[in-house]
Amino acid sequence: TDPFSTEVKPRILLMGLRRSGKSSIQKVVFHKMSPNETLFLESTNKICREDVSNSSFVNFQIWDFPGQIDFFDPTFDYEMIFRGTGALIFVIDSQDDYMEALARLHLTVTSAYKVNPDINFEVFIHKVDGLSDDHKIETQRDIHQRANDDLVDAGLEKIHLSFYLTSIYDHSIFEAFSKVVQKLIPQLPTLENLLNIFISNSGIEKVFLFDVVSKIYIATDSSPVDMQTYELCCDMIDVVIDISCIYGLEGAGTPYDKESLAIIKLNNTTVLYLKEVTKFLALVCFVREESFERKGLIDYNFHCFRKAIQEVFEVRVKVLRSRKHQSQT
Ligand code: GDP
Repeated sequence: TDPFSTEVKPRILLMGLRRSGKSSIQKVVFHKMSPNETLFLESTNKICREDVSNSSFVNFQIWDFPGQIDFFDPTFDYEMIFRGTGALIFVIDSQDDYMEALARLHLTVTSAYKVNPDINFEVFIHKVDGLSDDHKIETQRDIHQRANDDLVDAGLEKIHLSFYLTSIYDHSIFEAFSKVVQKLIPQLPTLENLLNIFISNSGIEKVFLFDVVSKIYIATDSSPVDMQTYELCCDMIDVVIDISCIYGLEGAGTPYDKESLAIIKLNNTTVLYLKEVTKFLALVCFVREESFERKGLIDYNFHCFRKAIQEVFEVRVKVLRSRKHQSQT
């Protein structure tokens, strides 16, 4: 059985007004579109665009909010969808007047909360590439204040909103998505622990566990994340997949499989080491050249790590299945 069946995949809803940037986010994060190409994305009239991509660890859906959709429409079964959702991301265009978006955010969050109080509410203050640094901070403060004031006025201050400044023109959108996904992984503390053990026994500086398709990182060791290191790892994944697509495909092969592995030596005595962990996930390690001389040790520890992580997810699937079984009988 596949331990990464849909049962363990985090489910995410992406919502927001039309033109706020939802399709662009989907294309850039999950389909490797370059940010400039999103300028030519056609506006769709579909309310709901499901991403049925089986290639990612993450499972998600996009909803548009043009004026005519309302939560009181009985033909629109939003209840069922909210019940199965782990995180609701609401995208606000920071370059536009955001008053209407804030009103929609409030309606969405309060409706979703009534159905499922366990949803994580994540607000992406988006397109911040167009704002100066001062303006970014001011916009975030203003949106934060207004959104929370609305909740207090409605007597719903117990609802927690998280805010992120995002843009598809840099890595901020991947970083924000990573944080949103990490909150939905119940095994995260175990994964972090395994990564800590792995690097301290192997002389590795830093390690990320990546969803290869989206370049979202699912977990990392507990040393602080430096943006530059993260960006380098993202670039490495791009290089590996691109080379593999151009030169590696034979017949019906995929650009990422069990054999996937890559080593890149940088000119500052650092080595980047990528290895396949599961169908969707890869480990990217930052290693000093002198530690990389003991590659056999790293590979042995990696082997143990991979076995452990597969067990962690298998246990989760078993727990979910037995719960489902109990509720059916
Ligand atoms: P949707 O209707 O919410 O799916 O919005 P789209 O994805 O169609 O985006 C609307 C427009 O916003 C497009 O022209 C995108 O190029 C632009 N856009 C999306 N994200 C960003 C961003 O981070 N920065 C900037 N400057 N423009 C963006």
